Amino acid sequence: MSETEPDLAAIVRDIAAEMLTRKDRGTVATYIPELANVDAQRFGLAIVDVAGNVYAGGDSALPFSIQSISKVFTLTLALGRIGDRLWRHVGREPSGNRFNSIVQLEHELGVPRNPFINAGAIAVTDVILSGRQPRETLGEILRFLQFLADDTTISIDQDVAASEKRTGFRNVALANYMKSFGVIENPVDYTLGVYFHHCAIAMSCEQLARAGLFLSCNGVNPLTAFSVVSAERARRINALMLTCGHYDGSGEFAYRVGLPGKSGVGGGILAIAPGKASIAVWSPGLDEAGNSHLGRIALEEFTRRTGWSIFGP
Ligand code: GLN
Repeated sequence: MSETEPDLAAIVRDIAAEMLTRKDRGTVATYIPELANVDAQRFGLAIVDVAGNVYAGGDSALPFSIQSISKVFTLTLALGRIGDRLWRHVGREPSGNRFNSIVQLEHELGVPRNPFINAGAIAVTDVILSGRQPRETLGEILRFLQFLADDTTISIDQDVAASEKRTGFRNVALANYMKSFGVIENPVDYTLGVYFHHCAIAMSCEQLARAGLFLSCNGVNPLTAFSVVSAERARRINALMLTCGHYDGSGEFAYRVGLPGKSGVGGGILAIAPGKASIAVWSPGLDEAGNSHLGRIALEEFTRRTGWSIFGP
C-alpha cells in the first residue's frame, strides 16, 4: 500500500470500535413512533471504493430506515423525468431552517428552498408521481434503489410507513400549503402516501454505500458500468448534498467532514468522496439539527484519517 493510499480496512475497524464504546450517542427520533424503538447502541459503517472493494464494520449489514436519504434518489429520478424544469417546483438554496419548517413557504409562494427539506422532497415526489399511480411510482423508486445497489431484497418497512402516516401532521400541513399555491399537482394524499413510503425504505450501510456509488464516479456505477446520470448531473447532485443535505447543520457538516452528504432521521448518512468512494454510516441517535450525532463524528474521523475532504487534507 502506497503512502498516499489510506488503509481503509484499518480505518473502518478503528472507527467502528471507537464508536461502539462512545457514551454520547445523541437522541433517537421519537416523532415517528416506530423509529423510537430502534436501539441507540447500534453503529454501522460501510465504504465501497470505486474499484468495488467493500470495507465494513459494526452493524453494517443491518437494515435501518433510510428516511431522508431516499431524497437523493427521488431527486435523481425527478431530474431524469423532467430535467431542469424541476427547478420550477423547488429551489437550490440552503434553507437555514429545520428540515420540517414551514416558515419560508409563505414568502416564497409555496416553492420550497431545496429538494432535501421535507417540503422540497414532497414537491419532488409529486413530480415523479405525475402521470402515474402511487403504487407504480413507489415501485419505480424501490426498483431504482434495488438496481443501484444490485440487490432485490431491499424493501419498504410497512410499519414505519404506517407510523409516519399516522403522525405526519406537519408533512400534511406542508403538502396542503404547497397545494394551495399550485405547487403540488396530484391529490395531496397520493403524494404524501408515496413520500411516506419511500422514506420508510430499509437498507443496510453496505446496500446504501453501493447505491450511492454512481455519485462518486461521475454518474457511472463502476461495478456494473451502467451510466446512471451524466457527469454534470452527478456533480450537481453532490453540490446540493453538500449545501443542503444536513438541513441547518449543512455548514457544520461541510466544516467538519468536507464531503457531500445526506442524512436521515433514522440515523443514517450517505457521504460521497468524489473519485474515491461512497460511504454509509448509521447511528440512530440524532443531534439538535436532526442529523446522526455519531455518524457525523465517525465521518469527521474518516476524512481526517483519509485526507479525503473535498477541501483538501
Ligand atoms: N420521513 C421523515 C419526515 O418526513 C424524513 C425526515 C428526515 O429524515 N429528516 O419527517
